[in-house]
Amino acid sequence: MKETIYSIPINESFEITDGQCPVCRLHRRLTEDTLEYVLGAAMMEPDVRQRTNALGFCPEHLAALMQKQKRLPLALLLETHFKALTESEKRLFDASTCYVCDRVGGFLKAYYGNILYLWRGEESFRRKWNAQTFLCRPHTAALAAAARDELSKKEAPAFLASLREKSIASLSRMTESLEIFIRSFDHRFAGEDLGEHKQAVQNAAAFLCGAK
Ligand SMILES: [Zn+2]
Ligand SMILES: [Zn+2]
Repeated sequence: MKETIYSIPINESFEITDGQCPVCRLHRRLTEDTLEYVLGAAMMEPDVRQRTNALGFCPEHLAALMQKQKRLPLALLLETHFKALTESEKRLFDASTCYVCDRVGGFLKAYYGNILYLWRGEESFRRKWNAQTFLCRPHTAALAAAARDELSKKEAPAFLASLREKSIASLSRMTESLEIFIRSFDHRFAGEDLGEHKQAVQNAAAFLCGAK
């Protein structure tokens, strides 16, 4: 069934309860798979090459591709991409496209639909969902938009309420953590052990930026 095609990776990610965003985990995995794909099997796929030629790569993903140290496949991809840029002013003047962003975004959209499908229909997934304490803001926003589109008027409010509940709890925890971190710069509290609050700014950034 179309709606459950990605239920294995989704269930695997939601089984982990380490306080990190389960959708970021999926997002990172998709990105890694796509980077490997681009420099490997996709080289021989004319359809994919047409897409990489047309879309190119954003700075972030080009840097990630460079890090893979596979210079020959990357050179081949860039050579034909440059030909495509030479041939099209429209492409040349649009630096916003990226094959990796596009492919990962397409999969993620399907994942959001699958997450909602599992949440709606599978008690065991609902338990995993409820056990997640943290979802980053970009994925919270994306799931909220998907819920408004794909869930019925009757189901959407319950899903949105659970998203909101997770966000409010995270915001409250992170705000307290930031306050303790800020207070540590006051000389009256110097030397106090910050413990987990040492990570206050990193945790806030993880909430705001997600998988990036
Ligand atoms: Zn996330
Ligand atoms: Zn990109």
